[in-house]
Amino acid sequence: MEDLISNSLPGMRDLLPEEMGRFQLVEEHARRVFAQYGFAEIRTSILEPTELFARGIGDDTDIVGKEMYTFLDRSKRSVTLRPEATASVVRAYLQNAMYRSAGVTKLYYMGPMFRHEKKQKGRWRQFYQIGAEALGSDHPAIDAEMIEMALWLLKSLGVEAHLLLNSVGCRDCRPRYIDLLRSELNKCVTDLCEDCQRRASTNSLRVFDCKVERCQPFIETLPAISEHLCQECAEHFAKVKGCLDEAGIAYTFVPRLVRGLDYYIRTAFEIVSGELGAQNALAGGGRYDGLSEALGGPPVHALGFALGLDRLVMILPEEQSAKSQRKPELFLAYMGEAALIKVSEIARDLRHQGFSCYLDFSAGTMKSQLRMANKLGTRHVLIVGDDELARNVASIKCLDDSRQWEIAIPDIGAYLNRFRIPNS
Ligand SMILES: [Zn+2]
Ligand SMILES: [Zn+2]
Repeated sequence: MEDLISNSLPGMRDLLPEEMGRFQLVEEHARRVFAQYGFAEIRTSILEPTELFARGIGDDTDIVGKEMYTFLDRSKRSVTLRPEATASVVRAYLQNAMYRSAGVTKLYYMGPMFRHEKKQKGRWRQFYQIGAEALGSDHPAIDAEMIEMALWLLKSLGVEAHLLLNSVGCRDCRPRYIDLLRSELNKCVTDLCEDCQRRASTNSLRVFDCKVERCQPFIETLPAISEHLCQECAEHFAKVKGCLDEAGIAYTFVPRLVRGLDYYIRTAFEIVSGELGAQNALAGGGRYDGLSEALGGPPVHALGFALGLDRLVMILPEEQSAKSQRKPELFLAYMGEAALIKVSEIARDLRHQGFSCYLDFSAGTMKSQLRMANKLGTRHVLIVGDDELARNVASIKCLDDSRQWEIAIPDIGAYLNRFRIPNS
């Protein structure tokens, strides 16, 4: 067995059919909800120039510094598997000059992202995100609408979620705050973990991301950015909260909530679920007005969020998980080669009418075919044997109560249509 290439890379996994149902269910909900809010899908390339993330996320971040899948392609160019999608969406927005069209550009995406993270339960190096970006407005109402949309998506899936909210200031007020933060950090820098000591001088705001226990008492005493917002940021934040109140959306103000990425300004939020314990963030997002310029584009107001699919499917309520299991509407059982030709013909006809039909060509006895139908969760089996074939009828057997009755083969389509229960 050692010669067999039978294992995926560490941290990588296959999504098998049982799991795919739940992924598809979430994706279908997302497509519907995002369309309701006027968002259109964009699919950007998965492989990007490394420079995009170095500039768009920041060289000093863990993502860029430690976690990216970066390599030289065959033309010796440094390329990277995307670790997140916002930088790619903004790149596509700029490359296609979408800013020239009037109004707000509303885009959503779904797909795999790649980060070479430390191995951890429930964390994958190829993981899946669904996200949305709105480019072209700094109106506080769009911040609230974006949050509302993310929460509505989760609610439509039956997932209880709660909003954590903060404002992280802007390019005017944040530098002043960071000076203050830095001077406070210098007072306790020797007590902090190695990462925090580095952050204290390079990127002080990231101290708030630290999970090391001995840093926590010091982090708690640091000043919060929300107390040092400029007039405009304070007003923007007040209006976002006002819009959320209007929409009846509850939130917890978390003054120490900062996004890990440089280009975030003003509104920052996380959506958490109580059902995941300590690692309970389902989605995170906020405003990133500075990103377009960081990528060499014009100034563009923008905001977005990303939602982790791998964790979301784990906490889908039971009734939603059940819905995601697609069962064939009809299992077609047959005895003998002549009957197989007939059931193939019936299946073809029914499929063209929109029914899902399952034919198992390995099936042997009638008993084993019924067992197979049971395993698939099909409720009705259509049976054609020599006797039925001779009379041009089929038997329909209900697996719930074992009742069985006959239908003339030419009438099957019309009969099933009359009793049709939509599958989803
Ligand atoms: Zn400000
Ligand atoms: Zn620390």
